Parts: sequence; C-alpha cells; structure tokens
Amino acid sequence: MRPEILFSLFKSITSLVGVGPRIATLIEKIAGPHIVDLCCHLPHALIDRRYAPQIADAQSGVIATMTVTVIAHKKPANRRMPYKVTCSDGTGKIDLVFFHAHEDFLTAKLPVGETRVVSGRLEIFSSGLQITHPDHIEPLDKIDQVKTVEAVYPLTAGLTLKTITKAINGALGEVPELAEWIDPSLMRREKWPEWRAALFTAHQPQSEKSLAPISNARMRLAYDELLANQLALAIMRREMRKIKGRSYSGDGHLYQSIMSHLPFQLTNAQNIVLAEISADMSSKNRMLRLLQGDVGSGKTVVALLSMATAIEAGCQTVLMAPTEVLARQHLATIAPFAEKAGIKVVSLTGRDKGKPRQLILDKLASGEAKIAIGTHALFQDDISFNNLGFAVIDEQHRFGVHQRLQLASKGVGVDVLVMTATPIPRTLMLTAYGDMDVSRLMEKPIGRKPIDTRALPIERLDDIINGVGRSLKTGAKIFWICPLVEESEKVDLAAAEDRHAHLSKIFGAQVGLIHGRMKAAEKDAAMEAFTNGDVKILVATTVIEVGVDVPDANVMVIEHAERFGLAQLHQLRGRIGRGDQASNCLLLYAQPLGKTAQARLKVMRDTEDGFIIAEEDLKLRGAGELLGTRQSGMAEFRLADLAVHGDILAIARDDAALFLQRDPHLESERGQAIRTLLYLFSCDTAVRNLRSG
Ligand code: ADP
Ligand code: MG
Repeated sequence: MRPEILFSLFKSITSLVGVGPRIATLIEKIAGPHIVDLCCHLPHALIDRRYAPQIADAQSGVIATMTVTVIAHKKPANRRMPYKVTCSDGTGKIDLVFFHAHEDFLTAKLPVGETRVVSGRLEIFSSGLQITHPDHIEPLDKIDQVKTVEAVYPLTAGLTLKTITKAINGALGEVPELAEWIDPSLMRREKWPEWRAALFTAHQPQSEKSLAPISNARMRLAYDELLANQLALAIMRREMRKIKGRSYSGDGHLYQSIMSHLPFQLTNAQNIVLAEISADMSSKNRMLRLLQGDVGSGKTVVALLSMATAIEAGCQTVLMAPTEVLARQHLATIAPFAEKAGIKVVSLTGRDKGKPRQLILDKLASGEAKIAIGTHALFQDDISFNNLGFAVIDEQHRFGVHQRLQLASKGVGVDVLVMTATPIPRTLMLTAYGDMDVSRLMEKPIGRKPIDTRALPIERLDDIINGVGRSLKTGAKIFWICPLVEESEKVDLAAAEDRHAHLSKIFGAQVGLIHGRMKAAEKDAAMEAFTNGDVKILVATTVIEVGVDVPDANVMVIEHAERFGLAQLHQLRGRIGRGDQASNCLLLYAQPLGKTAQARLKVMRDTEDGFIIAEEDLKLRGAGELLGTRQSGMAEFRLADLAVHGDILAIARDDAALFLQRDPHLESERGQAIRTLLYLFSCDTAVRNLRSG
C-alpha cells in the first residue's frame, strides 16, 4: 500500500481551492488527475516582472512593473474604441488601455487619486507610453508579489495561466518532506538539491537558465524519475526470472520440414537469432527476448521456425499482432508452411464470436491447435491453453509491459519473444525493455534494391499523378497514403475518400481504398485485391502502417508527409522495396515547411537505416512519442527528457542494480525511501511484486 506520507500528493486535484469539475478536466488533460501530477507539471517559460523603471526612463516592448497614481478615466466614444485610464508617477504619464471594458470593474480597480502597482508589456503609441490590458493591477502593499519572476506553464484551451498557477501553488503546499533516496555521494558530486527543494526551485525559475533541463533542480527531478523507472524494471526482471522456465528442445523434424518449403535461404542474421532463441528455450530460465528488426528484415519466418521448435517439444504457441489486418497477414504467411509440416493453426480476433469462437477455444483447450494467431483477443479471460509454452508478440510497441505479464500468465513459464520493427535507440531500450534480452536482425534479405525517396511540394500533384500513370504502364503497384489529418479516423477517412474518388476518375477500377473504419472482411478484400493485382493503386489511411507485406508493391506516395513522425514515415516506406524491382517513395508536403519537418524529410531522403532514423527521431521529438507510449498506456517520462538526460539514465541503471543487490527487498533505511520513490512515480506493481517475492 502507498505510504501515508504520500496521501496528500495522491489526492484529487479537485481538492484544491479554485479547481472545480470544469477546471479539473482541463488540468487532467495536460497534467493528470492527482496533486502529484500538478507538481510534475513544470514551467516552460517565464515572465520577468522585475524591471521597474520610472515612466520617463521606460523602454517600450518589454514587461515592466510600474508604481503609478491614477489621474483620470477616459470613457470611449463608441464600443469599438478602448477605455483608457491615465496614470502618472511624477516623471511622466502612462495610459492603461482596455478593450470591451467594464466600467464598474475599472473604477473599482483603479480609483482616481489612488496609487497602484501595474504590470504588463510597455508600448509606445501615438499618444505616448501605454500598457494594454495589464496582467496585474494591485495596491502598493502587494508590490512584492507582482515584481517577481513569474513561471509560465504549458496550457490548454480554456485554462488560463492564472488558474493553473494558483492550482500549482496549492499543490506545492501539499508537498511533504521525504527521506532521501538518492545515494549521498552522488548528491554531493552532482550538487543536487533535496527533492522538495528541487521541486520548489523548478517551479520558481529565476532566469532562463533555471528552465534548462540541465539545471541542478531539473536534473535531480529527472534522475528521480529515471531511478524509479530503472528500479521498477529491475524488480520486474528479477521477478519474471524467478518464475521457473522450462527447458526444452525439439528434434528438428518440423523445423526442417518448414525450411524445405521456404522459397529462399535464411540470412546469416536470421540464423544467428534462431540460434539465440533455441538456446533460450533449452535453458532453465524463462526466455524474455526482444527481437529488433527493421521493416522487411524477415522477422515472421524467425517467429515461425521458433514456434516449430517449441511445438516439436510438445508446446502450444501463440503469435499475437497489434491489428486484425496484421493478424490476417501472419495467418496467410504462416498457415501454408505450417500445414505442409502438419501443424494445426487457428486464428482468433475480435471478430470471432459465438459458436465459431467456441470451437477455436476448444481446440486451444484440448491442445489440438499448436499455433494460435490473433490479436489481443487472445488475452481474454475465458481462453485457456492445454500447454502454452511459447508466445511471440509482434510489433510490441503497441502493447506494454503489463500485457507481457498478462500473456505470460496464460501458461506455466511461457517463453516470450517480442518482435519490434521500431528500431529503438540505446537509451530508450534501457527504459522500455530493460527487462529483456535483445537480438537484432541488422541485415536485410539479399537482393533488395534501395528505395529512391524524394520530397515534393503538393502543388506538383498533377505531375505526380502523371508519373504514377507512367509507372502503372510498367507494371507498378502503388500505395497511396493519405494525410494524417488528426488522431481521428473519421477526419482522416474523409481525406482518403476524396483522394480515392479523384484517382478513380483518372485511373478507373484499378484504384482501391482501405481504411480503419472498414469492416474486417472489407479490409481483407481490399488487401486481397491489391495483392492479386486487381487493384494497382491502394489508397490507404495509416491502417497499413504496421507490418503489411505485399512484396511487389514498389511505389509509395505519402501525402502531407510533413505531418508524420519519422518513425511512422520509416514504417510506411518499409512497405515497399521488398521485392526485386526498383522502388520509389514520394513524400508530398505542403508549404511552408517548418524546421523540424524539413529535417525529418531530409533524414528520410538520406537514409533507409532504421537505427539512424530512430536516433534522429529521438533528437527531433520526445521519447514518449517515439515509443508510442501514449497508445500503449506505458508511463511516459514527465520530468526526464531522454534526448538530454541519457547520461544520468545510465547512472540510474547502475545505481538501481547495485542497490537491489545490496538490499534486495528494500528493507534498509534507504530501501524504505526508495519504496516511497517507487510509489511517488506510481510504480506500485513493482513494489507489490517485491512483497510477494
Ligand atoms: P518484417 O521483419 O517486416 O516482419 P517479414 O517477415 O514480413 O518482415 O519479411 C519481409 C519479406 O521478406 C517477406 O516477403 C518474407 O517472405 C521475405 N523474407 C524473409 N526472409 C527472407 C530471406 N532470408 N530471403 C529472402 N526473403 C526473405
Ligand atoms: Mg512483420
């Protein structure tokens, strides 16, 4: 259970003064539902109000705090004109300017003859110095509260800086003193403040420098977060490994049978990975292995051959995909080989209902089915296996640590192989997959030709369509990816339908359409028509993003490429260039192109190497986005920025390992403090595992 000392931090934000249900919804959107979330919502800018000149010396264009006496109110002649309040400080005059003003409010706030402290941006207008809509108007005794550096927080529509600042100040008032969890010598070396002090400092920036992620206070807070993450992963890893694995090896008959039917030779990389996997299987420990292989590197056949080995040893196996389209695709690839080898395959996705579903479940329970291919539908509670021994999870970044555990619970000591096509930079590997061993398929099957990638402005659409017409004559198969309008399938769909209609007018029935809102059977039909060549141009929303394999597709047009992230562009482009013909990728963009978008398109033109692209991606955007943690529900970092804090991540990893060696159950004084740290960052599962262990 969460320690009592943290209770105040895990109260709802609605317990704060000034936070009602409406404000709470807004705050929750950008920070989170608890007080601790507000504490982690750090300022990204500041307003320095310490400049306090006399009117005669004042510079325009800057924020200033002035002490003035109100001289006169000038009501506007009509509604469109502003209301003006003229003030003076003896050295000159200044006008406070208000549009759509409420006279009662202003006469109360600025009574003639009284002295007031006003703060806002100074402007020189034809009539002289003025401040339009001052940010603050206060009596003289409040000057110290105005003449300061004000933190500016990330906001959302409907939420003002004033409101969130008040809420955050309230939240900070709930922050307890906590016992130190960081190693004292590290604290001294890095000159880090204590946790509570660091939090306050981070919320009260005194200069641009203190906003930097490498400021002492922010470094410390980032370290806390990374340390909690690394401890949690280390604990999970330890607990997962405590569960005994099974040691098994096959006799090779199914493996050989499948090999004899493959239309190609395995690459060296594939052979090495297969050897690593079979070593895991024959060892007593459980296998928890991540297979990283760029799109098209041939992970599916690795999965199939590994499953064959497990089946030879008497186990059942599952292969789980993140989408139905992909599950179907895996089924289509794997079933023919499996059948030739006499292996019974079933598939299970969300669309299987009622009786047919029950039949599948029976085959899983009886052990008749040796390979189950499906989506997360394979997780459901009423599904049980006779003897599940090996699970392959494809494209794991859509899942999370939680699902890995859930799946593993469907069998005894199930070996898990996770496959991802997202090349992950080293720093991120550590934070997301620190609990796994890693294999990499670096080499692509031979005979692949490089993809010619170009970026073109959308104004040249007509030229591009002409070009597409020409390549159709030479037998091209074209993916046409429609713009990501927003994270809403409905809006994306409209764009795809428009483009489909447009292209159909030119190219007729050779143009197909696939999108996320289609029924599963319709999606299959659309993919099928494209695969068998009835359709030559497939207009698609990003549903095809992950894993789809149409080996002879050789042209890809991506509209509004500037809206996609690098990882996504790389994934999409990986759909072509799988066969032996030359391929082209056209990235269409709308002008003006921002700096980041420009950089992204350049990276895409320069390289096809997923690892280089991933490193660049990490530099260009946050780590959370890169891992797709938003979808997967995995905690993303709020205080640490892996592009900057990579070094302290390595320290956190080592510190976590060392500490757990010395105090495996977190019983020492620092161990207790570390428990609190884990709860502070909501790593409750890790602590719970620790208890049962
Ligand atoms: P991914 O790693 O993206 O899942 P796939 O497993 O879908 O890649 O493989 C991509 C394509 O490469 C498939 O058409 C597959 O049949 C083919 N392939 C896999 N291994 C080899 C190989 N060793 N030689 C030639 N082609 C291969
Ligand atoms: Mg794949």
